[in-house]
Amino acid sequence: MNIHEYQAKSLLAKFGVAVPRGHVAYTPDEAEAAAKELGGPVWVVKSQIHAGGRGAGRFQDDPEGKGGVRVSKSIEEVRANAGAMLGHVLVTKQTGSAGKEVKRLYIEEGCDIARELYLSMLVDRASSRVTVVASTEGGMEIEEVAASHPEKIVKEPVDPAVGLMPFQARKIAFALGLEGKQVGAAAKFLAAMYKAFTELDVSLMEINPLVVTGEGAVIALDAKMGFDDNALFRHPDVAEMRDEDEEDPMEIEAGRHELNYIKLDGNIGCMVNGAGLAMATMDIIKLYGGEPANFLDVGGGATKERVTAAFKIILSDPNVEGILVNIFGGIMRCDVIAEGVVAAAREVSLHVPLVVRLEGTNVELGKKILEESGLPIVSADNLADAAEKIVSAVKEAN
Ligand code: GDP
Ligand code: MN
Repeated sequence: MNIHEYQAKSLLAKFGVAVPRGHVAYTPDEAEAAAKELGGPVWVVKSQIHAGGRGAGRFQDDPEGKGGVRVSKSIEEVRANAGAMLGHVLVTKQTGSAGKEVKRLYIEEGCDIARELYLSMLVDRASSRVTVVASTEGGMEIEEVAASHPEKIVKEPVDPAVGLMPFQARKIAFALGLEGKQVGAAAKFLAAMYKAFTELDVSLMEINPLVVTGEGAVIALDAKMGFDDNALFRHPDVAEMRDEDEEDPMEIEAGRHELNYIKLDGNIGCMVNGAGLAMATMDIIKLYGGEPANFLDVGGGATKERVTAAFKIILSDPNVEGILVNIFGGIMRCDVIAEGVVAAAREVSLHVPLVVRLEGTNVELGKKILEESGLPIVSADNLADAAEKIVSAVKEAN
């Protein structure tokens, strides 16, 4: 789960990470009140959406205008900028061309920026450790830095038994070109950030930019935080920060039925049990020249209700032109699956080709149920056969 910048900053502040003062606003009136409370002379009005690149982004209805992060020099300007952002669609490099409607703003005190740096913490799968990533190239996307100047990125893995050591924090501070009292400030910043990371079960924390101010203070000007969903039950206060407006509605619906669903860009819907089998199914669809429309794992104990819900979710994607069901009946019996597929296909009045590949317990009975249903369901004998059949059925329909 991801949260907004203002929420991340409020959490980080509780752990002692230095952030500018600010208030969330849902209306221009609230933006104005927030600006008055903060006092001037400079404010920054920041669009709150779950995507980066807001500063360089543009509003759909004003492509020649300013971006989603605006420095404002009067209360009137704060109000005008709030009005120009709220209810308008912001398109950034990370939102895709559809953009995201801005529904919340963060009004922050202005900051005198001397240097923009990059700092993040993530769980590095290669070393199985929380790793600090830092770069002097702040304000730009780290992927770009990695491509053009990989030598400007430093990584520091943290030993979980001892945590982030002071010498490591200083090493990172020096790599960032900090000096004098900034080194101590950065070390304190890093220690607080690491504490927040581990205590809140964070999976990714990105401060871009981390800035050095004109007075030499080190503060987080931006903050992105993603959490491990499996640990959210331990942090009800964080779970409450969920903003469903920022999530894919189909993925939310899938979550309600305990289905693991991720929408992709292709046209062949997939319904599979088990994440590994789902990955293999997507691979083989591509091998036969098709493109999967989604990843969907119905899990081990799929019932008729879950299969029906899965069908509905797959079909609510307008790009889906065919469905491949690939189920291995181990714990689950193939006849139960077949009944679920038939019932679901009837209920949703299926209008695209459907190929079903069943294997495992009671497979013969399962195939018989599919055959006798009278529905135009194509049975497949193995994974390759199934992929070939669905890819050609979709091609024929076009
Ligand atoms: P992002 O574009 O979504 O990553 O949003 P950021 O919060 O990183 O803001 C984008 C850029 O706006 C930053 O890199 C800064 O250059 C600029 N910015 C943000 N806050 C301030 C501020 O208080 N003063 C000034 N001068 N620039 C700011
Ligand atoms: Mn940023």
